[in-house]
Order: sequence, then C-alpha cells, then structure tokens
Amino acid sequence: MSLAVYPGSFDPVTYGHVDIATRAAAIFPRLVVAVFDSPSKSLLFSTQERVDLFQRSVEGVPNVEVRPFYGLTVDFAREIGAAVLVRGLRMATDFDFEFEMALMNRKLAPDIEVVSFMSSLEYQYLSSTLLKDIARLGGDIREFVPDHVANALRHRIKDSAKAPK
Ligand code: ADP
Repeated sequence: MSLAVYPGSFDPVTYGHVDIATRAAAIFPRLVVAVFDSPSKSLLFSTQERVDLFQRSVEGVPNVEVRPFYGLTVDFAREIGAAVLVRGLRMATDFDFEFEMALMNRKLAPDIEVVSFMSSLEYQYLSSTLLKDIARLGGDIREFVPDHVANALRHRIKDSAKAPK
C-alpha cells in the first residue's frame, strides 16, 4: 500500500472531509486530496480556491498533498501512481451513489481499489450543499468548518448577494 487519492468537489471542504483525509493519512503513507475541476454541480468556489481552502485545513498533516485534477479520476490516479481511491460514506445517503461509482471505476480501472471510510458520527449529516444553504440563510456554520472556510463562505455569499440577478 502506498499512495492513495481522495477525490471530490470539496465546495467547500468541511470537517467531514478533513476527518476522512486525516484518517486515511494515518493508514496510507501518502494521500493526495484531488479537487475535481468540473463536477456536474454548480460551484461556489473556483478550483484553486477549493484547493487552497483544503490545503489550509490539513496544514498539520505532513503526508497530505492537495492538488487539482481534470478528467477521469482513475486517469489521474494512474498518472500519479496511486492504486487506491479513498471515499467517505455517510449512513444510507451515500451508499447507492458511492457503490455505483466504485463499480464503474472498477470497470474502467480494475487495477485501482476503492476504499470507503465510514463517516464519524458527528459528521454523518454534514454536506457541503447543506452547509452552503445554512450559510446563505445566515446560520452559524462555525462548528462545521475551519475558521478560514467559514470566512471565505461568508465573503462569497455576501459578494454573490450583491451581484445583479
Ligand atoms: P462529490 O465528490 O460527490 O462531489 P464531496 O466533494 O462533497 O462530493 O465529497 C467527497 C467525498 O467525501 C465523497 O466520498 C463524500 O461521500 C465524502 N463526504 C462528504 N461529506 C462527508 C462527511 N460529512 N463525512 C464523511 N464523508 C463525507
């Protein structure tokens, strides 16, 4: 077991993602968090912003690197010599989607294994989507994300409220 990749949109990173990255980094010698450039969902943060926000969130974990990626996850994993894809699973909500994607990735790249980490209890209900909704409606998000992410979200939401509709 050597290099593992943890791919995702991370728009933005939450403590749920940080928890998975930290736990994976305790098992694999090196972990690359791979920030997907163009997921099929609308994004609040640019690719570079999502990379920077995640990077600052794992500053204290020496064997984690955060990089952007484009195209298929399995192609990126092969390009950097990773044999494992890490994903996180929150109760029933993620299972169907994650299972389907793991099987498709296995079909595309039988040499790459998917390893899923069960979400910690306190983050089971936490998603970037819900977080953004709470922030938009003025709720307190400080217990779900590091301070720098909460500040970036607050600013982005304030700016997008000012933009003409
Ligand atoms: P996606 O990759 O589907 O765009 P995300 O970027 O939000 O979604 O998440 C990346 C990975 O982290 C996925 O495997 C997702 O299930 C997992 N994840 C998201 N939020 C949490 C959480 N609160 N706890 C554990 N895993 C999570």
